[in-house]
Amino acid sequence: MKQQVTNRPPFGIELRFERTEIDLMCVEELEKAEALPATPGPINIESFIGQHLCRDYGYEDLPDGVLGVTAFEPNGAIKFVGVSSKLDDDSPSAEHRIRSTWAHEAGHCILHPSLFMREPASRAQLLWEQASDNVTSDRRFLCREQDFKVQGANCGYDGRWWEWQANRCIGGFLLPKILVLKALETILRPSRVTQTPELQEENRSQAESLLSQVFNVSMAVSKIRLAEFFPQRAAAQLTF
Ligand SMILES: [Zn+2]
Repeated sequence: MKQQVTNRPPFGIELRFERTEIDLMCVEELEKAEALPATPGPINIESFIGQHLCRDYGYEDLPDGVLGVTAFEPNGAIKFVGVSSKLDDDSPSAEHRIRSTWAHEAGHCILHPSLFMREPASRAQLLWEQASDNVTSDRRFLCREQDFKVQGANCGYDGRWWEWQANRCIGGFLLPKILVLKALETILRPSRVTQTPELQEENRSQAESLLSQVFNVSMAVSKIRLAEFFPQRAAAQLTF
């Protein structure tokens, strides 16, 4: 992780993580909590949060449009993690959205405590105390629908990079690379040259459906994660 001063609101500093660094942090936290299954299967993200990150967690009646919240103490400890009770609407996709939201909030928990552990007199403190619709003066992230769409190659550094980073943790927590590769064992083929696993394009949609079922995530989450490991091209080779 690298930190640099920007003087831009709401934090006045910027934290930068490598993509692989975020994946590693997620897996390490799951391992510490003994929440990483030995074989491919759904990560119990909600109990991981309650048992490992913050005892005070649950479904909350959050304002319209707010899907999740993570609140911090002045010392960086996690004060509360919540998911909107409105997400639990009995629709087939509700469980996937809830799981993604928990994973996103867990991302804020592991990556962002330092943003709120500031000297009271510092410029950075003054910046976030001005509050916004996303980062409030009482040390909370209020994560809205549009925050979950911060994706892309620029890593969000032209905007809400902290939301981009939390979104990276959806794949990091719910689709750990080691388990994804195990789940895809019967679909992947070793490259003739390098012997690294390859995904043939004609098998991509089968792989996306398999990951969605095995890990209990939406097709959208499954597609994004698979494309990270196997970028779309004639025969996609495993990357990083
Ligand atoms: Zn967020």
